[in-house]
Amino acid sequence: MQRRTFIKKTSAGGLALAAVPSLFTVNDPEYSIEELMGKADIELFGEGINLRKEAHDAFLDMKKAAYSAGFDIKMVSSYRSFDRQQAIFERKFIKYTETDGMKPIDAIDKIIEYSTIPGTSRHHWGTDIDIIDGYPKVSGDVLVPEKFEEGGPFEAFKKWLDANAQKFGFYLVYTDDYFRKGFKYEPWHYSYAPLSKPMLEQFRGVNIFRQLIREEFEGSEHFTTGFLKTYIQNNILGINEDLL
Ligand SMILES: [Zn+2]
Repeated sequence: MQRRTFIKKTSAGGLALAAVPSLFTVNDPEYSIEELMGKADIELFGEGINLRKEAHDAFLDMKKAAYSAGFDIKMVSSYRSFDRQQAIFERKFIKYTETDGMKPIDAIDKIIEYSTIPGTSRHHWGTDIDIIDGYPKVSGDVLVPEKFEEGGPFEAFKKWLDANAQKFGFYLVYTDDYFRKGFKYEPWHYSYAPLSKPMLEQFRGVNIFRQLIREEFEGSEHFTTGFLKTYIQNNILGINEDLL
């Protein structure tokens, strides 16, 4: 009986504490729109790591644990600015439309299988990482799903991540879920949830559509209202539910 009272009190206290940060967020945004869209100079930590402090520290802890288990976590990609994402988007758009002769709208659909529209990449936040195991010898592109699957060079690493990444706050974003829409399965892309969850919550509060419709870069004139609304719903919000 005494124990029950104790649990009741504790959970009530926990609820009260949990309510404070979200109230605070509504009144006083912690992250600016520029920050959320990769347009601000944010402080990044670690040579070759480039993450926000808390995510950086958690990453190092995970890297150490992985090392003890026989894996050498290599960062393929972490923070990326709006300008960098714009360059990636425009390079692909020009290649698909001019070299490959695709229709602009088809080119954009192909780009957003794996790449984001500038301003909407989770890599803008300094919380998300693309990682592989540095030990196995690998030829060709490393960020392809087959390399993380059975018989692939990162099969054992992927199993270790499945069992351990969440202990360090890192969650897979683009899961292998048949019903998930948006970006394809990315077994290499993890997000540091303690920071990225509140960031996504705040991003949803700034009217992403209005931000995107006024951006101008190669290909952006082909974004229709319907396209952007679907993109926001499927690609920005079509993620692992633990990150929503
Ligand atoms: Zn990624």
